[in-house]
Amino acid sequence: MGLRHAGAPVVMTGSTTALSPSRRGLHVITWGCQMNVYDSARMSDVLRPLGYQSVDAPEAADMIILNTCHIRDKAAEKVFSELGRLRKIKEARKEEGAQTIIAVAGCVAQAEGQEILTRAPYVDIVLGPQTYHRLPEMVARAARAGGAVIDTDFPAEQKFDFLPDAAAPQTPGNYTAFLTIQEGCDKFCSFCVVPYTRGAESSRSVTSVLAEARRMAESGVKEISLLGQNVNAYHGEGPDGTVWGLAQLANALATIPGLSRLRYTTSHPRDMDDALINAHRDLPALMPFLHLPVQSGSDRILRAMNRGHTADEYRDIVRRLRDARPDLALSSDFIVGHPGETDEDFEATMQLVRDVTFAQAYSFKYSPRPGTPAAGAPLQVPEDVKDARLQALQALLRQQQDAFNAALVGQTIPVLFTGEGRKPGQIAGRSPWLQPVHVSGPRHLIGQELPVRITERLTNSLGGTLVEETVYA
Ligand code: SAM
Ligand code: SF4
Repeated sequence: MGLRHAGAPVVMTGSTTALSPSRRGLHVITWGCQMNVYDSARMSDVLRPLGYQSVDAPEAADMIILNTCHIRDKAAEKVFSELGRLRKIKEARKEEGAQTIIAVAGCVAQAEGQEILTRAPYVDIVLGPQTYHRLPEMVARAARAGGAVIDTDFPAEQKFDFLPDAAAPQTPGNYTAFLTIQEGCDKFCSFCVVPYTRGAESSRSVTSVLAEARRMAESGVKEISLLGQNVNAYHGEGPDGTVWGLAQLANALATIPGLSRLRYTTSHPRDMDDALINAHRDLPALMPFLHLPVQSGSDRILRAMNRGHTADEYRDIVRRLRDARPDLALSSDFIVGHPGETDEDFEATMQLVRDVTFAQAYSFKYSPRPGTPAAGAPLQVPEDVKDARLQALQALLRQQQDAFNAALVGQTIPVLFTGEGRKPGQIAGRSPWLQPVHVSGPRHLIGQELPVRITERLTNSLGGTLVEETVYA
């Protein structure tokens, strides 16, 4: 698993049955990481008691939320261009006598709050990632005052304590769910906006995480992905008053009946402690796939990035993880063209990739983010050099991903079936390493974890056959 990075937005859809007169339509557009996907689901939860129900088309929505990402590129520009489109919809609906509330949420809202209201005065609500539990109040204020409401505080209260119980398992499906356990970051990497937009690191209490996980399991969820900007820096208050780390939390989660798969993302190498490495050895529920961003293989650049570890320390963590769980595969994030990166530094990144080998990875050109230390640093790398490095890195990473997938052909692996496949008569699920797997099989097997013999490698997925097919038919 990794972050679904800024780019094409994800439109959250839900129940789209015709709305009763007392119901109001809600359309949420989500950019960015899985934490934003989780936040969008929780914003829908918060608004449900007000009668808001998900609709597919913005034209049918009484409220539209843009949940935004600020991590790279011209994220804010994408939001303004989407807002331009929504303005026309709002005006057309107004002519028909319908009101449309437009809210901008997430990290662009946090970073550019006032600017949004200046450039798009038809926006009704601007709210940061830490205040969405206050949405009902903001909706009421926006309706009452007729003016814009802006709330980009970092409130003292934890929003999780004020959210209603998640009503249903969240995306991506009925049998898998995201659960945010930690937010914010105190690490201040040179290139990153997260500490500024998401605020200081904080963890939910163990009791509240376990309660949400139990509710998810009771509603049929089998696989939970724990989320956090630095999820393995988790330090939640335990029921006994002591501070629990992620390993202790994972041990407790693994005892919940019905939960057979646990994942966590995104981890920082500095927080990969012995207890967590041992949890990979001791907990079969902890899936053998870890997203562990390294960003660069050059010690010089890692230092400039303020990552707090060397390339060899990363190699050593990976070695210990693989000793603990030999089938563990890795995913990572890389940035090419950080200010000051030379050809030698880039070669060190390529060497680290060759040494470690990744099953999957995300790689990006460095994108200067306003207000971060690297944005003003000397020796910015020219765009064409970044392009060439990115292409070379991605070619190597693709080769490794292909090799990893090819090695699964002929093996029998457990697949958690989560829905129908693309072709009629197919069902689809996820491998332990998160690849989509398609087989021919009956629908009633959806929701089960079953052995599948992998027979082919497709572009972005694997094909296979159910083992003991006749038993399942
Ligand atoms: N906390 C995680 C970590 O420390 O590895 C990463 C969180 S960040 C939201 C996700 C990824 O976006 C980073 O790992 C990094 O590769 C990428 N990223 C962040 N800022 C970037 C920037 N200014 N330019 C390019 N990529 C960036
Ligand atoms: Fe950003 Fe670094 Fe914090 Fe990750 S650890 S969220 S890259 S500042």
